[in-house]
Amino acid sequence: MNTTAFTWARRFLGLFVPPDEHCLHCGRTLSTPREDRFGLCGACLDLVAWIRRPVCDRCGKPLRSEQGDRCHDCRARTVPFACSLAPAVYDGMWRDLIQQLKFYGRRELARPLGAAMAQVAERARLGGRAHALVPVPLHPKRLERRGYNQALALAMEVSEETGIPVLEALIRAKAAQHGGAQSLRTARERRRSLRGAFTVWQPDAVRGLTLVVVDDVYTTGATMDEAARALLRAGAGKVLGLVAAVGLTDADLAGGGGPHSNGGEEC
Ligand SMILES: [Zn+2]
Ligand SMILES: [Zn+2]
Repeated sequence: MNTTAFTWARRFLGLFVPPDEHCLHCGRTLSTPREDRFGLCGACLDLVAWIRRPVCDRCGKPLRSEQGDRCHDCRARTVPFACSLAPAVYDGMWRDLIQQLKFYGRRELARPLGAAMAQVAERARLGGRAHALVPVPLHPKRLERRGYNQALALAMEVSEETGIPVLEALIRAKAAQHGGAQSLRTARERRRSLRGAFTVWQPDAVRGLTLVVVDDVYTTGATMDEAARALLRAGAGKVLGLVAAVGLTDADLAGGGGPHSNGGEEC
């Protein structure tokens, strides 16, 4: 049975047979199809800071209603991707899950994160519009240390749920410079260190396609921008983004958006 058929079978059977599985976060027994889909119990799912409207029409970060339809960061630069989607804010338990997936080898945590991303993708009807999911690649040295690319693990989960195929179109052309953790750098340093970081493996394979760049967290947008630019340079028709969470910056927390209209373009 292929993976998609397996997912549907599991979901269908879940209506009648309570899955004998435990919450990936707290260990409680899962008892509903929804809990089974996420691999998390209802109590843990209630802890997630799910994103609700209004959101920035470019990066998907939550906005306060008086901020208009675009956040401060997306108004301050030319955003190369059409729009990016995220189910939740990078905070609390959701942040723990992402960090454990990235730094502690808990690959199975791609399931709850990917399930939430798939839900957002389904709501935006990406299934009928996107040709492929393109995971942000890791530098080979980091991949060797980590054993897997968390963005690819997330893309595979989303693919299983939505049927959108995964296309590993991007290559990491250079390692992040200056050493140190990305999260400790300023937005400007992150942008500089990522410039030209990605190239496209086979430009012919992406020409004219609508592609969804998949990553774990969107904070400054530096990674998403670079990945989108590389794909568009190679001839992709349109680039969207899909991440497990958005990290809020000081500028986001201070507000500072304003009235703006993109003409009602859908993500
Ligand atoms: Zn739980
Ligand atoms: Zn934004």
